[in-house]
Amino acid sequence: AEQHVIMDEIAIRRALTRIAHEILERNKGIEDCMLVGIRRRGVFLAKRLAQRIEEIENASIPVGELDVTAYRDDLEESILKDESPPASGADGAYPPTRGKRIILIDDVLYTGRTIRAGMDALMDMGRPQSIQLAVLVDRGHRELPIRPDYVGKNVPTSKLEQIEVTLTEIDTKDQVVIFQG
Ligand code: 5GP
Ligand code: MG
Repeated sequence: AEQHVIMDEIAIRRALTRIAHEILERNKGIEDCMLVGIRRRGVFLAKRLAQRIEEIENASIPVGELDVTAYRDDLEESILKDESPPASGADGAYPPTRGKRIILIDDVLYTGRTIRAGMDALMDMGRPQSIQLAVLVDRGHRELPIRPDYVGKNVPTSKLEQIEVTLTEIDTKDQVVIFQG
């Protein structure tokens, strides 16, 4: 099937660097800030952003991760049954969210249901001061009143098209591709 590269390694790197600066500007630094990546590729993006923010600010920012599968409202019950705990750090430890300015991070934003689920999970873990949203790709077709605060690239898609995000942490290269599903 035909596919087009919409972001290469350099474009991804530049987008993340810009978003790191935007996060710092919007929050006037990183006081009380915390990055929370949504599994799986959102976590790698969160870690990359944390690294850049640390390089720019010379201060470290906590990074958490979220698995929101159990909070989704549109999954088959059979999938939900054997769910592991919905939200935890990789080793069970989790940085506290109470009072934090949380920046949720995911690779692709589509209907918004995953982000709604992520916000639910975060609220269950202790009320944050605020939640912002950063995504590498916004492909449109929202079904909920959710919009990203930080966007790597807006990619208007048809519902038949799909976005493939590959990241070197688990894939062969950094790339974003669009193809007909
Ligand atoms: P939503 O919940 O907004 O409908 O979908 C967003 C979630 O599903 C994200 O976690 C994202 O990883 C995944 N997703 C939705 N559409 C796509 C897509 O076209 N490509 C990729 N790679 N992931 C998608
Ligand atoms: Mg995902």
